[in-house]
Amino acid sequence: MSEVVKGLTRRDFMKYCTGAAAALGLAEICGVEKIAQALEAALKKPPVIWLTGQDCTGCSISLLSIEDPGPASLVLDKISLRYHDAIMAGAGHVAEKALHDTIKEGGYVFIFEGSIPAADDRFCLVGGRPIKQTALKTAANAAAIISVGACAAYGGIPRATVSQGLPLSKVVTDKPIINLPTCPVHMDHLMGTILYYLTTHKVPPLDNIGRPKMYFGVSVHENCRRRPYFDAEMYLKDWNDPEQKDWCLLEKGCKGPDTMSDCPIRRWNNGINFCIDAGAPCQGCSEPSFYEQNSPLYAMGPVTDRILAMKAAGLIPKKKIA
Ligand code: SF4
Repeated sequence: MSEVVKGLTRRDFMKYCTGAAAALGLAEICGVEKIAQALEAALKKPPVIWLTGQDCTGCSISLLSIEDPGPASLVLDKISLRYHDAIMAGAGHVAEKALHDTIKEGGYVFIFEGSIPAADDRFCLVGGRPIKQTALKTAANAAAIISVGACAAYGGIPRATVSQGLPLSKVVTDKPIINLPTCPVHMDHLMGTILYYLTTHKVPPLDNIGRPKMYFGVSVHENCRRRPYFDAEMYLKDWNDPEQKDWCLLEKGCKGPDTMSDCPIRRWNNGINFCIDAGAPCQGCSEPSFYEQNSPLYAMGPVTDRILAMKAAGLIPKKKIA
C-alpha cells in the first residue's frame, strides 16, 4: 500500500503512528504496530455521530483547534464524521437524513457534548426534537459511546442552572459510557480513546466514574510544578507580589488535590500551558463536583479547609524548598 492516508507514504504513516501512540499515551498499552494495523483496517472509516446538547460548544472548538498535521488529524483522517450540527456542511433535512441513515446503519461511535435538561425537554431542541429523544435513539445502535466535556460527563455548568442539566449517563442507562470530562474535553483524551477502541475493540480501563485511567489516574496536585511551595506551606496571598508568583494556589481556591487529570503533564493548546501554570487555580473541571460544589472557583472552600486542617494536624508534613 503506497498511500495509506491522504498525502502520506507508508514511511510517513508509520512515523505518525509512532508519534500518535506516544503523544496519546498509548505506546505501551496498544503498541505502534497494532495501532497502525487498526488504522489500516479502518480504511472503511468507522462512522462517528457527534451530538450537542446544552453547552457552549467549547468541546467542538477543542476539536477544531487540532494542529495539522498531528496525531489527532491522523485519527480524524481515519474516521467518518457523519453528523455534527455545528461543523457539518449539510443543513436542515439533508443533515437530519445523514443522522438517521447512520443510526439505521448502526456500529458507529457516538460522541455526546453538553448536558440534557431534566427540568423540561423544551430547554434543548435540536432538529425540532428534544435532545434527550435523539440521544436515546443514537445510543441504542452505537458501538461505543463517549461523553465529552464536563457537561456531558457529569452535568457541568448547566446542572447548576434552571434547566437542571443531566449527564448522558443519567439518560442512557443500559450501555457503558466513557466519560472524558474537563472543560472543554482535551483532544488527546478523545483521540487516544478512539484510537484505543479502534485498536482493541474494547473500552479502555475506566475508574469508578467512567474516566479512562490512562488519562485520569493521577491528581493534578501530584504533578504540579507549584508542589514544592505547597510542601513548604508557601501559599500565594497577593497576586500583585512578584515574589509570590510561583507559590501554591491553595488559598486562592485551587482544587488540584482533589482533581484527577494529567493536565500538568499533557498541558493544553498543543502542550503550551494549562490553568495553574497560567496563574489560575485548578477548578476541578474533571470532577463531578464541577461546577456547583466547586464554586466560587477563586475562593477557599471545603478542599482548602480540609487540606489546611490536615497540614495543621501534621498529617501532611512540611518540607523545606530544596
Ligand atoms: Fe498545585 Fe494547586 Fe496543589 Fe498548590 S494546591 S501544589 S497550586 S495543585
